[in-house]
Amino acid sequence: MSFIKFLGTAGARFVVMKQLRASGGVWLSVGKTNLYIDPGSGALVRCLSSKPKLEPSLLDGILLTHKHLDHSGDVNVMIEAMTEGGLKKRGVLFAPRDALEEDPVVLKYVMGYVDKIEVLKEGSEYRIGDIPFSTARKHRHQVET
Ligand SMILES: [Zn+2]
Repeated sequence: MSFIKFLGTAGARFVVMKQLRASGGVWLSVGKTNLYIDPGSGALVRCLSSKPKLEPSLLDGILLTHKHLDHSGDVNVMIEAMTEGGLKKRGVLFAPRDALEEDPVVLKYVMGYVDKIEVLKEGSEYRIGDIPFSTARKHRHQVET
């Protein structure tokens, strides 16, 4: 069964820091593929407290649209959870280059836990299992988006 589960739709600093809305991001399940989009603060807690529980070790990948905290706050712990503490190297991380290189939000030791890192570029097509997706043009934002 395919589904989308919203674990938090908060954007903007104050909505996140006051948790006016949760900021966990989105779990997308299509066919046999599970992809997490923008694991903001609370993503792991929201997965594990979700009913039915969403098990991060079943994720095939994580997609960061950009590195702002409302989208990336839990990216490291979600990668750890996807890879069972880094003991099972697996999954794909999709992220813009600046989320990985300059002032990175993904810790270097955590980057080594995933099978593959795909740097997102504008106007490109990607696939993870049953989920094809494409990127639009770069948005005007303070960071690569
Ligand atoms: Zn942003």
